[in-house]
Amino acid sequence: MTTVTIVGCGVIGAMIAYELSKCELSKYELNVTVLEAKSQPAMGATGTALGVLMAACSSKAKGPLVKLRLASLSKYDRLISELIAQTNRDILYNRNGILSLYRSPEGKSKARSLIEIRQEQGFVLQWLDQAQITAQFLLWQTDGGLLSPCDRAVHPTQLVHALVEAATQNGVKFMWNAPVKNLEDLTSDRIVITSGLGANALLAPFLKNRSQDILQPVGGQALLVQVPNLNLQTIINAENEDHSDINIVPLGNDRYWLGATIEFEPTELPREANVSLLLEQAIAWCPSFNQAKVLETWAGDRPRPDGFQAPILGFVPEHPHILIATGHYRNGVMMAPVTAEITRDLLLHGKSDLPWKSFALTA
Ligand SMILES: Cc1cc2nc3c(=O)[nH]c(=O)nc-3n(C[C@H](O)[C@H](O)[C@H](O)COP(=O)(O)OP(=O)(O)OC[C@H]3O[C@@H](n4cnc5c(N)ncnc54)[C@H](O)[C@@H]3O)c2cc1C
Repeated sequence: MTTVTIVGCGVIGAMIAYELSKCELSKYELNVTVLEAKSQPAMGATGTALGVLMAACSSKAKGPLVKLRLASLSKYDRLISELIAQTNRDILYNRNGILSLYRSPEGKSKARSLIEIRQEQGFVLQWLDQAQITAQFLLWQTDGGLLSPCDRAVHPTQLVHALVEAATQNGVKFMWNAPVKNLEDLTSDRIVITSGLGANALLAPFLKNRSQDILQPVGGQALLVQVPNLNLQTIINAENEDHSDINIVPLGNDRYWLGATIEFEPTELPREANVSLLLEQAIAWCPSFNQAKVLETWAGDRPRPDGFQAPILGFVPEHPHILIATGHYRNGVMMAPVTAEITRDLLLHGKSDLPWKSFALTA
């Protein structure tokens, strides 16, 4: 029997646990345990995320990261159906696509050339002119936008709870209030680090050549608002004047998530969400947000690799029994399914056909 310990139960840890549990633990003689510091799953970055699954309309055209994102997106429809069938839980999952709105001329011309590239990759995008947007979406102040019907959004916390329930049914053991202080305390054959920002402390003794933390926190603030009669079904991603972007995620019953800011300056949690900034950004695209009633505000920290590209995948250099799957920065929910597939393959076979090597730590 091979014992595997997964450290951390955000979306990445839960997805890997579920992926391993599906490949019949008894067939591979695996004994999988997840240790989570908090009293329940999804209490870190995952619990603050908006769950936008932006792959086909992402502005990056090609390369390993795009390949992984598109592979991850392609897994989502089936994953959600499987989880709902197994657990009978509600998982809010928006299949109406993402409409991207651009302010800068570069954004618009990039979006138009993306249509051809994605077509070759098997994903259909459609440019909508002002009249089409006005007819379909009412009140949006734009002269055009890119509709990506295959992009999605999922409720991150509902997803993680369903993953934990399904993995538990399949034989994975979860332990709450179980912080790992030192990886050397674990007697497991294999360890998978999915502890988000908590990975800094755990990995420091194994990465002695690095003088700084491998992950930096990047803050993000978001809102739950109620906007009467907007009747928006499609997820909106819009480019702000300063080239940052804002997501509007429809939740039903006139409710929407709005976010998120990107803050590199460290501040203490809990933080007040920057309500007026987010509302101003939304109103600039759609005056209906003048009527928005703010129901909730929150903030979280994204785990961003410091000095190299997100995410971090693969083995700890010189310690091949320890795997890392963390540092997904703004796309952890998006990339969880493909991360789980790669991690499963590395654990079971020592290799993966997916392009993970560009994201591995080097000694
Ligand atoms: C405001 C905001 C909006 C976002 N929106 C999106 C979005 O729309 N789409 C998207 O894809 N991503 C989004 N993200 C990013 C996303 O939240 C992260 O990339 C993702 O949640 C990272 O998941 P994780 O499992 O690696 O980390 P986490 O969710 O942080 O989970 C790590 C877990 O490990 C536990 N842990 C830490 N240390 C230890 C230890 N020593 N022992 C045991 N347990 C430990 C923690 O308690 C935590 O539960 C957003 C982030 C923010 C802040």
